[in-house]
Amino acid sequence: MILTDIMKYIESEYKVINNTPCEICGGDYEASALEILIIDDEPYDICQCSCSLCGHEKIFEFPAPFLNEEYIKYKAKTN
Ligand SMILES: [Zn+2]
Repeated sequence: MILTDIMKYIESEYKVINNTPCEICGGDYEASALEILIIDDEPYDICQCSCSLCGHEKIFEFPAPFLNEEYIKYKAKTN
């Protein structure tokens, strides 16, 4: 998968975040950090968000299957 496809995927994740109201006050979440974690050999996009109104923090987890191939290549290089 090429980089623009990955960007599209991340954009759709941001849409999910934007469409999820804060469970405390109903405000909008803003992404503050994005990282990739490998859980049970599956890559996940972990997005740390906080409410723009009350500051309530929420972690969004998205499976990131598009990272598999790149990750495996990366792993192969480093091992
Ligand atoms: Zn809130």
